[in-house]
Amino acid sequence: MAFGDLVGQKDIKDRLHAMFAGEPAQSFLITGAPGIGKRTFGRELAKALLCEDASSDGACGKCPSCTYFDAGTHPDIRTFEAQKGKKTIRIEDLRSGLISDIAVNPQISARKVYMIDADKLADVSQNLLLKSLEEPPKGVEFILTCSDPSKLLGTILSRVTTLQLQPYSSDEVMKILKDSGKCGDDETKIRFCADFSAGIPGKALSLADDEDFASEREHIFDMVMRMPRMSVTDILTDEAEYWNGNSDKVDELLQLLQWTLGDVAMLLASPDKGVLKNGDKKEEIKRFISDVRGLTLINVSNAVNAVTDFAKGLKVNISYDAACCSMLLKIHKELAR
Ligand SMILES: [Zn+2]
Repeated sequence: MAFGDLVGQKDIKDRLHAMFAGEPAQSFLITGAPGIGKRTFGRELAKALLCEDASSDGACGKCPSCTYFDAGTHPDIRTFEAQKGKKTIRIEDLRSGLISDIAVNPQISARKVYMIDADKLADVSQNLLLKSLEEPPKGVEFILTCSDPSKLLGTILSRVTTLQLQPYSSDEVMKILKDSGKCGDDETKIRFCADFSAGIPGKALSLADDEDFASEREHIFDMVMRMPRMSVTDILTDEAEYWNGNSDKVDELLQLLQWTLGDVAMLLASPDKGVLKNGDKKEEIKRFISDVRGLTLINVSNAVNAVTDFAKGLKVNISYDAACCSMLLKIHKELAR
């Protein structure tokens, strides 16, 4: 594997292609949302920097350096992360593993690489690194990864080459999910998790084996399908209880609800066109539409508006319980005809 083989991120790969045709930069900062794959990308970059026969596509994958790297035993890469349960990287670790080590020659490669989780750098550690970043000895490479560069000192940002990872397309996330083998051949699940992740592979991968997410999806879908048969009492007791018990996941629940209502609207508007989010449940949605007599797009649109209003209200600290019940009752009014 070389960075050229990674899915997507064409702009960054083009920049690296050009760089590896000559002399690469010495200090990199890889940024992007949590879960987007900064570490994966950073490791491929590190492997290419250490490789004995790198091309403009990255590491060769065959030389002794690449073999050591893949086995996790390469002596010329050091990784700095916060220890489990700690918020920041220990400054002693940076002093002993980086500051005191930086002048020591690499053992098997022409370069050595320091990979640092810069989200976990306290200000005092950032200051400690400044001089090394300013004048790194020949052959020393820094790869910093960071979700929130605004927390880094301006003097650090001015010394690094920034590579900003962009959200992936749904098809790209699907490819990453397929390559991971986490969803088997379940094409519907792969597409659902990829779409839901909004271009963040780490989120898609964690959703793929999150049983809670699978059960939330089923619950919300069933809730909409059962809505016409529910009584107001059902909503104010069982359903309200579910939403109150899962208030920490309300963003996910609302997204799932929007998607289900969106699928109803799509099939109502044109029964044989369009790609549904819940593609595996098309027949159930069709049955729902034929069972609810007189259901119109206006009803569904009003239901969607109730969801949007609740989501907006959450941002201004409304009472969760009351607003949630109000949303559910409005949806019920539109769908129970
Ligand atoms: Zn190699």
